[in-house]
Order: sequence, then C-alpha cells, then structure tokens
Amino acid sequence: MAAQALKAAALATLWAAAAATAAPTLCERGLRQSPIDITATRPASGPALRFGYTGGPARIVNDGHTVRVHFAGASRLFVGDEAMKLGQFHFHRPGGDEIGGEAFPLAMHYLHKTRSGQLVALVVLFRLGAENKALAALLPLFPAQGERRVPSGVVDPAALLPTDKGYYAYDGSLTAPPCTEGVRWIVLRQALEISPAQMAALARLFPVNARAVQPLNGRIVIAVP
Ligand SMILES: [Zn+2]
Repeated sequence: MAAQALKAAALATLWAAAAATAAPTLCERGLRQSPIDITATRPASGPALRFGYTGGPARIVNDGHTVRVHFAGASRLFVGDEAMKLGQFHFHRPGGDEIGGEAFPLAMHYLHKTRSGQLVALVVLFRLGAENKALAALLPLFPAQGERRVPSGVVDPAALLPTDKGYYAYDGSLTAPPCTEGVRWIVLRQALEISPAQMAALARLFPVNARAVQPLNGRIVIAVP
C-alpha cells in the first residue's frame, strides 16, 4: 500500500475516537506535536550523540498496536554530557517523521528518560531495500498479537542503529493520545534498509499505527552533522 494510503488508514483507526470528543484535546490544539516533516533546518555544531547501548535480557510485548522491546535499563544514550536511560524501542508503520517530504515505510522509536524524567525519543527510519540482518535475527522473537515473550538470549539495541550518527532534533510530543508535549525528538539522518518480505512480516504482527505529520508552528529543527 502507498505511504499516503497507509497514513490515511492510520488516521482513521487511531484518531477517530479523539476527533469524536466534544472538547479539543492536546492532540488537536497542541502547537508542539509529533511527528513532523523535517524541511527547513538550522545547522548546529552539537552536542554529538554517544551510544552506551549494551546487549541484555529483554521482554518483548505485542500489544496489538506495536511490538515493544523492553530493557532492564543498562543502556544509555549520551547527548553531550547528559545521560538518558533506554527503556524500550518499538515500531511504527509508516514511519511518522518525514524528511524533506519523504515518507518512510517504517520507523523505530527508542524511548529514553533523563535523570529529571524528561522523555527523549530517538528515531531510526527505514527505506525499502535489502534485507536488514539485525532485524532478521530479531523478527523470529516477536510474539503474536496480545502475547509477550522473554527470549533466552540477549538483545542488543545497538544492532539496529545506522553508522552515521548525524541527527535532527526538535521539541515534540507523544504521538498517541494524550499527545503530551515536552518530549525531545532526535531523528537520525541515515535511514536503514528493510526488505519487502520483512515489512510484510511486521504487517502480520501489528496494524498501521503511525500518526500523520503535524504543523511545525514556528518550531526550529536543528541539524547536527
Ligand atoms: Zn512511537
């Protein structure tokens, strides 16, 4: 299905309930919402990202909306000197955030918390192409809808990161109701590849679950090489 059609379907399924409520929620009236189309950006010199991700035991949950891979908390993302604890990653199809009008068939969201409790979402985008070897190792571990699994081996969250750690950053929100704002978004600029067969396997595990892009409302997106 074309990305535009996927997005339309996502809107219909995920946002019908929000639209039906009488009083507008933050999802309708918020001015700093996610995802966005990253168009004009402001170059910035840093801070650089450093990934202190380590393989460890994981708990994998398919809640019927997405597959989430939870970690016990040993992995950290460092933005400059600031440490952020990795809690989980999960999947969206299509990818939500767009770059220069380009929509992506899939995204992973890595969710972190700072020491002060702020949520930091790191996005890895995927284009259709070759089979993704790291995902090929992970896919057989993903449980069916409504099920969970604790694999016997370790899961390495770093295996699904691109080599280029350049990124875009903007202030956004949760992408599902209640659309809480104050979430820091970091979108890695280099997309990974996923094969059509792997996309089909994910489609059997969870439905279209991405939110459409939201207005920037004057927000600045910084680009860090
Ligand atoms: Zn997400």
